[in-house]
Amino acid sequence: MCLTDIRARMHRACDEAARPCDSVTLVAVCKNRTAEEIAPLLAAGQRVFGENRVQEAAAKWPALRAAHGDIELHLIGQLQTNKAKEAVALFDVIESLDRENLADALVAEMKKQNRILPCFIQVNTGEEPQKGGAAPKDLPDFYAYCRNAGIDVAGLMCIPPAQDVAALHFALLRKLAGELPAPKPLQLSMGMSGDFETAIR
Ligand SMILES: *Cc1c(COP(=O)(O)O)cnc(C)c1O
Repeated sequence: MCLTDIRARMHRACDEAARPCDSVTLVAVCKNRTAEEIAPLLAAGQRVFGENRVQEAAAKWPALRAAHGDIELHLIGQLQTNKAKEAVALFDVIESLDRENLADALVAEMKKQNRILPCFIQVNTGEEPQKGGAAPKDLPDFYAYCRNAGIDVAGLMCIPPAQDVAALHFALLRKLAGELPAPKPLQLSMGMSGDFETAIR
């Protein structure tokens, strides 16, 4: 699958859903990809990327950033509190905020480093025990906790159970976002290679 095809499919899905194309952002997930594999995407203008592990991102992105200043790097994988310092230094957006002690660790590090990273709260819409994320019923309290702690909550993120109909989880995430007392509309980070058109719809 190439970037040009994905962009065309995103446009089509936006048209079909009657939503403006600039209301959707492609986060190019490049875990397990080398800097050489990422280079053509940068050359084609892609600037928003996702990584799921701090160590792997630390090995690739400082050099890529030095060559292309305007990159926006998202952490999409689970984050241990003892890696919060490195994550805050390396990433621009944290998409996997899923528990109170992580919110505390991120706020402390952002203050220390004088950096503000928008965060997405990960919601475990399928309530899978092995997956990170706040349970839907705990989301209002966790959202309030994060806001009170000083986190800029930009939106919600979910990774549906592999065997489920993804659309139901995407719809739930949207509903949950609409029920939170957010100062501006929350963004939704959802959909992967196999279902991004469903996520856009
Ligand atoms: C790997 C990963 C993706 C990308 O999955 P693809 O099916 O390769 O598009 C998206 N989100 C998360 C959280 C991931 O870990």
